[in-house]
Amino acid sequence: MDLFAFRHPGVDRAEPERGDPAVLDRRWQDARVLVLNEKGEACRHLGDDILYPAARVSLRRPEAATYLGHHEQQAYFALPLDLAGFTPAETVSVRTAAVDWPAWQASLFAQAKALLHWQSQAKYCGRCGGFTDLKNGGYSAACGACGLIVYPQTHPATIMCVSDGEHLLLGRQAAWPEKRWSLLAGFVEPGESPEQTALREVWEESGVRGERTRYVASQPWPMPMALMLGYDVYAPMQPIQISDELQAARWLSRAELRALIDAGELQLPDTLSISRYLIERWLEAGPGIRDFWHTKP
Ligand SMILES: [Zn+2]
Repeated sequence: MDLFAFRHPGVDRAEPERGDPAVLDRRWQDARVLVLNEKGEACRHLGDDILYPAARVSLRRPEAATYLGHHEQQAYFALPLDLAGFTPAETVSVRTAAVDWPAWQASLFAQAKALLHWQSQAKYCGRCGGFTDLKNGGYSAACGACGLIVYPQTHPATIMCVSDGEHLLLGRQAAWPEKRWSLLAGFVEPGESPEQTALREVWEESGVRGERTRYVASQPWPMPMALMLGYDVYAPMQPIQISDELQAARWLSRAELRALIDAGELQLPDTLSISRYLIERWLEAGPGIRDFWHTKP
């Protein structure tokens, strides 16, 4: 795997092709289909590749087939299991795929999972309650009654590497596996920039006042349709006052954090996540890390 999961750009999403039913019909003929169940797991048909031949689902393209794009001349669609009409011999979660599948296929899965989840939430018009129809290869939904058109949503969230340079702020939620600690995170609210979110969430969850932020990297997080925006946050080490969202939070030096990990008393998040990447990046403290926390802008 890459530094973290879903970093590969995946397939050529071929946006101009989505609105042309004739092109999509032609693409369908020799396409492969990623079939997802209600939980968003990829479903394998007995004896077949998990990317199932489209022509075996149907010779004609189903209206509800979502066009994901093409990769090396091969077209890919996504389809809910109830329309694919087979009983899965095996199901694969997107977390498993992130580790086991080629990077571009894991990204294809993330794209399909987030899109199909959005579609499942967009079956009725949010304005008049009428039925909607999928358009544009699954990339929009139009209300048959009032004509409102809605587009796929992504929910941006920030995840914060909060430090004074020498200590890292980690928290844990009661619902997490025992010994799991991670960075603080939270969703961007309406009318808010991610930089503002980063400082607000740290303050709300831990009572720690951050002083400045720096964007680091982002990760699509299709669980079900978030986008994680990773930030460094400079904050002087100060007393912690946790909110109800957290069970605990603490400042740890690099030496303390390494010792707890080595002793098996603290578990970091999965390697597929940007949170793990940000923590390890801070632990390694290479060039570019120290300058942010030690140089005033
Ligand atoms: Zn409507």
